Amino acid sequence: MSILQTEDPEISKLINAELARQQDGLEMIPSENFTSRAVMEAMGSVLTNKYSEGYPGARYYGGNKFIDEVENLTRDRAKQLFGVAHANVQPYSGSPANLAIYFALLDPGDTVLGMDLAQGGHLTHGYKFNFSGKFFHAENYGVDQKTHLLDYDAIREKAKAVKPKMIICGATAYPRIIDFQKFRAIADEVGAYLVADISHISGLVIAGEHPSPVHYADVVMTTTHKTLRGPRGAMILLPKVADRYHDQYHPKTKRDLAGLVDAAIMPGLQGGPHNHQTAAIAVALKEAATPEFKTYGKQIVKNAKKLAETLVAEGITLITGGTDNHLILMDVSPLGLTGSQAETLLDSVDITVNKNLIPYDPRKPMDPSGIRLGTPALTTRGFTEDDMVAVGKTIAAVLKAPDNETVLSVARMAVEKLTDAHPLYS
Ligand SMILES: *Cc1c(COP(=O)(O)O)cnc(C)c1O
Repeated sequence: MSILQTEDPEISKLINAELARQQDGLEMIPSENFTSRAVMEAMGSVLTNKYSEGYPGARYYGGNKFIDEVENLTRDRAKQLFGVAHANVQPYSGSPANLAIYFALLDPGDTVLGMDLAQGGHLTHGYKFNFSGKFFHAENYGVDQKTHLLDYDAIREKAKAVKPKMIICGATAYPRIIDFQKFRAIADEVGAYLVADISHISGLVIAGEHPSPVHYADVVMTTTHKTLRGPRGAMILLPKVADRYHDQYHPKTKRDLAGLVDAAIMPGLQGGPHNHQTAAIAVALKEAATPEFKTYGKQIVKNAKKLAETLVAEGITLITGGTDNHLILMDVSPLGLTGSQAETLLDSVDITVNKNLIPYDPRKPMDPSGIRLGTPALTTRGFTEDDMVAVGKTIAAVLKAPDNETVLSVARMAVEKLTDAHPLYS
């Protein structure tokens, strides 16, 4: 960073301050992670200088010999890793990737059925102030009022009632396994496309810790920067072509799903791809194909389970009582706190989490009843189950004694000990 330090000391200073924040705190936002230096090197490379609208072998700009090779390599690695027939690696991020999928499969005004944002879904799954709710007729499904688990019978009834052209499954705040096979059966019953958004869990899918949607979904989308541990970005994956696709070839355009998705990204939505980002995704995919990555993915879940167990033993209320994946949704209302108070409190001892709605939350999104926390970033730092016991006890102590300065300073020391034991980018 020495050139930057000379050229732009203000930004350099801020980057270094953020580095120190990441090093000295416990990063527990479940959608965050730490990429490798190799990924960051590709991200900061000269590939950012090149325009390459189009796809390998069919560009609107000259000079793309090496860019074509980069994108082909990235696509091949994605196809290999996820076992799919086609991969589009150009989406700038998860939200534009989902927008492209809507463009590819639907016409404006068509009905889409997605998980309610207030119950764990994503903005792009039909929230009324998002494109998905503004340009499409969005209907929602949620979780059961008692168990807080996906209720597939209720989802089936809803699908039969609203007849969606597309069902989107996947979540941002659901601590349990998603049954893609059941979603497929529902989609088949109502003649809908099934889109699986595995942004949060794609790293767990690769590690074999969460079932893959590849055998069931028509289209799979994942961001590349969450459990997959790559740069910010996204990929749209088209599973192996199977006979069941009712209109594999679009009646008007005569394109198959892969062609529809590619056309929706470019020229439908984006211009030139971010080639530095594509190369960095390739690096992350290479890393994700190693045995070490599988070990990391398995450890994420072990860590989350141990953390959940510790919190429950401390008397903390968890939605669904625990977790099967990388995240935990905690109801802090029994502690007399709001989600936003809990977030601020944990922030004050260098533990970063985010306030989050819980299912059927009586409170508002800006100050909900819960917090969401996860283990991917800590697992990347090398935290194991013993560390998670310490993390869980520290979190519980802070939330139970928000005004106790002694408790808070003991917590700060515990965080320092843990982060010192697991250095980041040192
Ligand atoms: C994070 C996420 C997205 C959006 O990703 P961005 O890169 O933030 O646009 C979409 N869907 C799900 C389920 C996500 O978790």
